[in-house]
Amino acid sequence: MTNQNIKLAKFAGFCYGVKRAVETAKKLKQDNPDKNIYILGELIHNTDVINELEQLGIKTIYEVPAHGEGICIIRSHGESPEVFEKIKKAGFELVDLTCPDVKKVQQKAIELAQNDYFVVIVGKPNHPEVMAIKANADLYSDNVVVATSIQELEPYEEKIKAHKKVGVVVQTTQMVSSLNLVVNYLNTIAKEVLIHNTICQSTAMRQKEARELASESDLMVVVGSKKSANTTHLAEILKNCTKTIHIENDSELEKDIYINANNIGITAGASTPQVIIDKVINKIKGGI
Ligand code: SF4
Repeated sequence: MTNQNIKLAKFAGFCYGVKRAVETAKKLKQDNPDKNIYILGELIHNTDVINELEQLGIKTIYEVPAHGEGICIIRSHGESPEVFEKIKKAGFELVDLTCPDVKKVQQKAIELAQNDYFVVIVGKPNHPEVMAIKANADLYSDNVVVATSIQELEPYEEKIKAHKKVGVVVQTTQMVSSLNLVVNYLNTIAKEVLIHNTICQSTAMRQKEARELASESDLMVVVGSKKSANTTHLAEILKNCTKTIHIENDSELEKDIYINANNIGITAGASTPQVIIDKVINKIKGGI
């Protein structure tokens, strides 16, 4: 046992959107034991959870087949209208588990596009949530771009200057610093910049609390998949505050790193199950 002070953040682990998606998928199988249940794309970035769902008979697929039967779930990241159509056309019953916060971003981006704004989505172009937001807005405008840096926006500078009105939305788990960077640049080239800060409440609170915890810790441990955007953002933010390590699970935890820390703060991404967080805490407490 150690005398270290170990504090777990209150907002560590599953957010309500992820919880809702996992619980609803399980309930669907329970209520429809004879039906095929599919999820398009990994429901969350966690292999243990994907395997557990697989064992319950809930299969992850990565493409919509031409024909199929049973239920096909849209995960919390959302999908393009084209994919919704494909699923229905293939013959599946569609269950949409897009997080309500993600739906709000899609709606805001659509409104901006419909009202002739040049739309800037702050996020990574290959993030599934961003791709779905863009696909929704693309239906109403040819002026929709994705960026997290000034370099990515520079090629559009003349177009933006000519367009005058720019509208900004941001992927729900982005860092506010990326939003600020993009907005500051746009303010120098556009006449009007309308900003919708669509970072979700759960992400904002998780980041704020983690920063506070970091201010009183000499080591922060961030637990969660390295493929998860919200977890990697959390680690990036905390690295500027105190010594921080990002691990996927307790097997990556090296004693040398935490043994001399007096105050250890622990937080986790929105797709990290409680059981994985508990194992990390127990390992540190056991000093092994
Ligand atoms: S991180 Fe936010 S937007 Fe994403 S699923 Fe969770 S609550 Fe919804």
